Amino acid sequence: MSDTPALLERPFEGTERAAELIGRLQAFLNGELADLVRAQGINHENSPSLETLRGVWKRSRDLGFYGLTLPEKLGGLGLSVHDHVLVKEAIYATGSPFAPHVLGELSGPPRVGALARQATPEQLQNYILPVARAEKAICFALTEAEAGSDAGAVQTRAVKDGEHYVLNGRKRFISGSPFADAAVLMASTATNPGEREVTAFFVDLNQAGARVEAGYKTMAGQSHTGDIVLEDCRIPAGNLIGQPGRGLALALGRITVNRLLHCPAMVGLATVALRDARDYALQRRQFGRSIAQFQAIQHMLADMATDLTAARALMLNVARQIDAGSEARAEASMAKLFCSEAAFRIADRAVQVHGGEGIVQGRRVEFLFRMLRMYRVLTGTSEIQRNTIARELLGDTR
Ligand SMILES: Cc1cc2nc3c(=O)[nH]c(=O)nc-3n(C[C@H](O)[C@H](O)[C@H](O)COP(=O)(O)OP(=O)(O)OC[C@H]3O[C@@H](n4cnc5c(N)ncnc54)[C@H](O)[C@@H]3O)c2cc1C
Repeated sequence: MSDTPALLERPFEGTERAAELIGRLQAFLNGELADLVRAQGINHENSPSLETLRGVWKRSRDLGFYGLTLPEKLGGLGLSVHDHVLVKEAIYATGSPFAPHVLGELSGPPRVGALARQATPEQLQNYILPVARAEKAICFALTEAEAGSDAGAVQTRAVKDGEHYVLNGRKRFISGSPFADAAVLMASTATNPGEREVTAFFVDLNQAGARVEAGYKTMAGQSHTGDIVLEDCRIPAGNLIGQPGRGLALALGRITVNRLLHCPAMVGLATVALRDARDYALQRRQFGRSIAQFQAIQHMLADMATDLTAARALMLNVARQIDAGSEARAEASMAKLFCSEAAFRIADRAVQVHGGEGIVQGRRVEFLFRMLRMYRVLTGTSEIQRNTIARELLGDTR
């Protein structure tokens, strides 16, 4: 991997603690995890085995990274949003296939940290602490075939039966579910048809009546997304999280911060795409000269650098606003919208700079193009972000 071009070497704007953390994380990802990648032939699409993943989670825990997003009383570092964004950006900018795993983003502490306040002592013991210790993996299951952007429309039913709830339904597109032990799962507890009442539960996935059906791949070629099928799945009533009917509030309670926290992944990956395109432009020769000497190529690289700098500036600005106590609801949507669209434009140009090599499977820019395309849909599509921004601008126009 090349060095970051001087233009993209910006002064570090985080705290000393974040700088120290980033240095150690980069050493971990570029050192022993890079060795593991080579030894096991792992790439972005060829997922590591569950055994390897468990080993990485535990090693990351031992090094003090895995639980850093948890509340401080559970071992988290209490980072500001600004530092958190910088740490995540640096992780993704390494280009490592393990980038989503060192903090356990798919199935680790970030899935449960915000629930710690509502959790009962039993839920803490059975789910949150084992996840924090990297002993259990957990996914977050809201989406269904008929409840995507309209998340409140969930049809999975949870019916009270004495000291249990009986769950029936099917969750779709659940990240991390193929290797998760449990799920934080949203189900309808409404008693009248047409009523919306969404409640959150901890559900063990290896119990009778629950199974994960994976078997499909996203366009990025990865297979860590699956469906959760619940057929008369009985769970203790004590697995209900918080209050009945407050599931969406729990799930979406930190939506502003969560939306913003997807941006550093896109910005980090777009940085990799720009670096790769720059390196390729400098070394590829046509018509007797390096293609970096053609103004058409220079302009593409200039547009990529401009998009990246603008996306990063917006992301960090919104992080500062949140740290300063602003609600920043529309601003976080703007960051998610702009970063995802800009990152995809960068990936598209990176492919163009690579010419035929850029469209051959196995080239990193070809993977980044597909990966960055997905972020325009994931965790609230670009259209849903625009809806949020317009609502803040216009009020409710109904
Ligand atoms: C790889 C992957 C991982 C995922 N991981 C998880 C997970 O871990 N947990 C989980 O619960 N979910 C997960 N999801 C689901 C994801 O959050 C949804 O796919 C996303 O919210 C969009 O919902 P949908 O796919 O049903 O699209 P739809 O809601 O059907 O949208 C289709 C189109 O209609 C547009 N549209 C819909 N409503 C409006 C509106 N009101 N105004 C304007 N346009 C609108 C959309 O923008 C889109 O263009 C994942 C999805 C993928 C692909």
